Amino acid sequence: MALVQRRGKTMTDFSQDAEAARWNYRPENPVGLNPLFSWPPRPAAVLRWYRGAWLQLTSLTLCLVLAVAAYTWFLPPLEAMQSFAPGWMFRVWLLNMVPQIMVAGGLHWWFYMRKGQGMYKKFDRRDLTRDNGTFTFRNQLWDNIWWTLGSAMTVCTVYQWLIYWVMANGWVPTVTWAQAPVWFVVWMFFIPMWSGLHFYWVHRLEHHPKLYKHVHAVHHRNVNIGPWSGISNHWYENILYFTTYFIHLLVPSHPLHLLFHIYFQQVSPILSHSGFEKIKTGETEAAKTGDFFHQLHHRYFECNYGTSEIPFDKWFGTFHDGSAEATTRTRAYKKQMYT
Ligand SMILES: [Zn+2]
Ligand SMILES: [Zn+2]
Repeated sequence: MALVQRRGKTMTDFSQDAEAARWNYRPENPVGLNPLFSWPPRPAAVLRWYRGAWLQLTSLTLCLVLAVAAYTWFLPPLEAMQSFAPGWMFRVWLLNMVPQIMVAGGLHWWFYMRKGQGMYKKFDRRDLTRDNGTFTFRNQLWDNIWWTLGSAMTVCTVYQWLIYWVMANGWVPTVTWAQAPVWFVVWMFFIPMWSGLHFYWVHRLEHHPKLYKHVHAVHHRNVNIGPWSGISNHWYENILYFTTYFIHLLVPSHPLHLLFHIYFQQVSPILSHSGFEKIKTGETEAAKTGDFFHQLHHRYFECNYGTSEIPFDKWFGTFHDGSAEATTRTRAYKKQMYT
């Protein structure tokens, strides 16, 4: 183990600590957190963080493009949604199903079937699991497809039907671009943060031993994750997880806000669970996909419950930055939790 002198104290060299050997690929630096919450303030780092998230090809920008396309070409106008009717309800279901199948199916094909970039920037050494009784249908892929398209897509669609219907009837405040352009943009910008806040607390609740055993364990069957693992959740977990959308009944929103929130909640987990940090075609790295922060949660369980957007894990002492030291700490915490 290599030790280096840094700021007068001896600490383990991140690039060569024992954790490196546990992965096929581990990012060079410790996992980063949103510097917006750093003290003293680091405005240049904040700017870099948001520029990296919004002005490049990332899951965030993909979700925004999907939302705009869905709103422009497929979503029925609100007036058509004042009463429940099969036409618009079917369209809303399709708007969930089609992007999910295309993105998860596409990434799975590239990474795991075609093996388009081999092991390049793949975190875990192992391939996805087959012929294993832990999984429904004894197969990780079919298990994940079932829990995503069956359970998750059903629950999220029912919630969306309700929200569009309430919005269409004018029972909650809505906004348009013409009425409040500044609010329109600001709220869009804050949706990922709201989602991170909601996710952290729901996720912590799911790690309560009882809920974990009967519900959240379905998602955690996937220690080694793939694109279809993203929202491969038990029914009860989905009922909780998708309550995040009900914020649009309280905060004045436009259908485009809801659509962006929908894709952020449903499509971006496909990327963050892809198991690869980046997608590479030919010689160029096309886009960031995986999220080592959440990959660590699937390997070590009792750490990184939230996202890197709001550093709850750092505040509550459960942050794993990818170092061997953090693994030792997490294992000790887990032991004390279950004894
Ligand atoms: Zn979990
Ligand atoms: Zn996960």
